Parts: sequence; C-alpha cells; structure tokens
Amino acid sequence: MTRGPASPVLPGLLFPAKARDPKDLPVPISSPPIATARSAPLRSRVLIVDDNTELVDTMRAVIASGFPGIAIETAQSGAAALVMAQKGFDVAIVDVKLPDVSGIDLIRPLRAVAPFSEVLLVTGFASVDAAIGALRSGAFAFVLKSFRPEELISIVEQALTKVELRQERDELERRYRDLVDVTDVLVVALGGADEVTLINRKAASLAGTTGDQALGRSFLEAWIPAEDHAAVRAALATTRGQIRAAEVETGFVDTRSARSSASALDRPLDEVGSIHTSPRAKRIRWHVSRSRESGDLVYLIGIDVTERRALEKRAADAEALSAMGELAMNLAHEIRNPLNAAVLQLHLLTRNLDRIEADEVTRGALKDRTRIVGDEIGRLNRLLTEFLELARPRGIAREPVHLPRLADEVLDLEEESAKGRGVTIVRDLPDDGCVAIGDREKLKQVTINLVVNALEAMKQGGTLTVRVRPEQERVLMVVEDTGPGIASELLPNVFDPFFTTKEAGTGLGLSIVRKIVDQHGGDVTIESERGKGAKVIVSIPIGR
Ligand code: ADP
Repeated sequence: MTRGPASPVLPGLLFPAKARDPKDLPVPISSPPIATARSAPLRSRVLIVDDNTELVDTMRAVIASGFPGIAIETAQSGAAALVMAQKGFDVAIVDVKLPDVSGIDLIRPLRAVAPFSEVLLVTGFASVDAAIGALRSGAFAFVLKSFRPEELISIVEQALTKVELRQERDELERRYRDLVDVTDVLVVALGGADEVTLINRKAASLAGTTGDQALGRSFLEAWIPAEDHAAVRAALATTRGQIRAAEVETGFVDTRSARSSASALDRPLDEVGSIHTSPRAKRIRWHVSRSRESGDLVYLIGIDVTERRALEKRAADAEALSAMGELAMNLAHEIRNPLNAAVLQLHLLTRNLDRIEADEVTRGALKDRTRIVGDEIGRLNRLLTEFLELARPRGIAREPVHLPRLADEVLDLEEESAKGRGVTIVRDLPDDGCVAIGDREKLKQVTINLVVNALEAMKQGGTLTVRVRPEQERVLMVVEDTGPGIASELLPNVFDPFFTTKEAGTGLGLSIVRKIVDQHGGDVTIESERGKGAKVIVSIPIGR
C-alpha cells in the first residue's frame, strides 16, 4: 500500500462513472470550496476499506465533518469489508491495494451485497488505463490519494445522491408496478409482433390465465374473438403509425369460464360456438396508446364494460317490450275475439262441407283450404299467447320447485311428439338435491320451450338428453339435442324477440326463456355448432 499524505497537496482526478463511454473520461472535477456541511440522507452509511489506519482516520474525519450524523464503518481487508457490508452501506471508499484482494475485484461482491450502493476507488497511482479499468468494473469514481477534503466530500455527496435517486426510482417503480397490478382496470403491453410483454392481475384474471403464462403469447389470437381482430389491428396501426391514442371495444375470451362451462357439458368448448347471457362473456373498452420513446411497444388500458352493455341491452329490450306490452294486451283482446269467432265459423264450415253437393275432388280441395286456414289461426293464437307471456309485467311466485320432477313431467307430455319424430329421450334426472325456489309454472314454460325447440330441430330423428344436477348454490338444467345445431353467425341473435328461422316460428320461445330465467336471477347459455346439435344450459340459483 502506497502511503500518501492525507493533507491536501495535489488536486486529485475524480471521474464520476455515470457514463461508461471512455470518451467521457477523464473529467477533472473542480469542486467548489465547502463552506457548510452537507446533509447526508437519513441513515446513510459509508464504508471505508483501507489497511492504512492513518488514512482511514483522516477520511473518517473528513466525511464526518462533511456529513454530520452519517454512519461510518471501516474495514482493513477485503474479507473484513464483505463481512461489514452485510450490515448495509450506501457508499464504499475502497483502496485499490488491499492486503488480501484488489479493490477492483471487491467492487462486484460489494455491490452484490448492497445493489443500490456505489464504490469509490482510492489509489496512489494515476493512470488513465487504471481509471478506465476501475470504472469499467463498476466503480463510481476513481479518487487519487492526494485529494483535498472538499473533493472527497463532493464526490461522496455525488455518490450518495446517485444512490438515493436510484433507491427513489426503484421505490417509485415498485409502487407503479403495484398500482398497475392492483388497479381495477386491465393493463396490457404489446411488443412489435402484438405479443404480450406485460399483463396486470386484473387482465390476467379476466383472461383466465396468469401473468407468466400470458407473456409472449399473441394477444389477438389468445384472447380477442376473431370478429374483433380487424378493429384491434386498426387501432394498433393508428397508434403505432400516428402516435395517436385510439379507442376500441372488443370481446375478451375468458378461457376460465369456457373451461367451467365445458365441465358442465362434458365436451371441450374450444370446438363449439357459444353465447352466454351471463356476465361471463366479457366486453372490454380499450384505450390504446404508445409514447414516442416506446418504439413498437403499445399499451392497452381496458375497462370492463360487460355489465354496462348488458344493462343497456336489457334496458333497451325492456323499454321496447314495455312500450309494446300495453299495446299488445289491448290488441290481443281485440284480435282474440274475432279469432275465436273465426275458429267457430271454420268449425261449422268444415262440418257443412260434407253436406254440400260437390264431387270428392272439389270437396277435398275445400277441406284442404279450411285446414290451412285453421292452422294459420292456430299459429296466430300461439303468437298472441307467447307475446302476452313476454309482454306482461307479472311478478314470479316463490315456491320450492323440484326441477328433475318438472323436467320429467314435461318429457312425459312430449313423449308422443318425440316418438313421432323418431327421437329417443334420455333422462338424467336425479331425485334429490335439485330443488330451487321459483315459479313452477314459469320454469315449466322454460322447459317446454327448450324441449320443443330441440324436438323441432331433429326432423330426421335423434336423441334428446335432459339433465338436471346441482352445482354449488345452483341447479343446472341441460337440454341437449343431436339436431343440425345453430350456425355461429346466428348464435348471437337467437335470444332476440321475433328472431326465427322456422317457417311457422314466432321467434319468442327463447326470449321468454331468457326473461323467466332472468326473473329467477339465473343465466342461460347456448352452445352449438352447425351440424353438431345444440346444448342449452339453464342455471337457477337455489335461492334459499
Ligand atoms: P322459434 O322456435 O319460434 O323460432 P325461439 O326463440 O325458440 O323461436 O328460437 C329462435 C331460433 O333459434 C329458432 O328459430 C332456431 O333457429 C334457433 N334454435 C333454437 N333452439 C334450437 C335448437 N335446439 N337447435 C337448432 N336451432 C335452434
């Protein structure tokens, strides 16, 4: 170890190591004279590592005078320094030549113990190569032993400031990450290939995944329904091309809810289209933005608008229905009376047909026409009845309803019709655990509508399976057929009033189902694929 005068003789060269680029080095620091003591950040600790006890004492005195109240520890060897470092330190002043190790080699282990710390190297030799070597090894500065007290204080102050700033930045970053993670909005960052580079807890949980599993996956392919891909791509292109924020609303595939539905259905849901009337089918409004510095990285901040959209749709439906309701009730009475009269007259007409003088061909043709008129009147009557069911603002009864028995009853009623169509009925109806509080008549209507739809779908015969089973606080009723299924583009419309693909359909059956299930606080889901049958799941809360 080279002995050097502790008193100020020559100004030392001090190289702040902020920049690793050698062209920034060396930078002689001309420190201003120190008039007053600096205030070191609270609880700052300096570690002096040097085997020259005289120099250690001098440095300790200088630093103590510069930073009143600062904690100063000392060590005389590399090994002792590493032990001492365990207590924590912010700045270490390390002699390059220590008895057991080079100060340069001590930088990394010291900083491994205290990641925010800085190390100042002290040496008696001044060579640019040595300085660059030290700085490359991660030293904050290279201090010549012939320093003046104010120079040492100035460089320690710079190092302490840097440590403090880095700690603050780390703290802010941590808080920012926590905030992003616990916030109730969805936060997703996408790289240049639209792969997920960041996803917060809310987004991951709605997507039915975890942050780790989501990283690197294609955001669009994994979570955005195909029909929304174009809109998302356009928003991303606008944001990347014009550095302008864009707004886009999309569906958001909740793989977890898909899995739970699948478990209720014994068939992988990935293969089938589905429409949920429950809030599990998510709608997200995304704000897409990027900053000039972020390159291709784009941030998507999403708000879950599922409930809002569902409420808006229900409100619009309810408004339309209530406006129609009053009109319909009056109209129904007005229409029913003449209809009843028409049915009566038709009946008489049919009877009289046998008495008129005409040949068999003419009589047969007349009979066919009266039958058609009769069928059409029957259809009108059905339309009126269903329309009134939907439009009437009637409350529901609350009584215990044994759903397996109810389903059994309905299947008994439809048995003949099923036989006529070549449909086999499979009943999976356990006797206990499936009682829900609700309106028996209305739940019967739900079951009839679903069973009739299934039977009507199976024109070429098939199998109708009805299952009832408890699931947590709910009772599930699953009505499944092996008919032609529903095309995915029609699936979103089947619950709309008057939507029908049947020649004599009213398009009100499923609207009534949804209304009644809603009144019971339940939900109804249809899963279907063209050519592979349809599966309707009604879930009713037990409602104790
Ligand atoms: P409707 O039966 O009078 O047409 P619904 O509201 O009950 O009215 O049904 C609407 C439409 O949904 C039907 O026209 C049909 O296209 C489709 N649908 C309903 N259930 C099934 C099913 N089990 N299989 C195939 N399509 C169905």
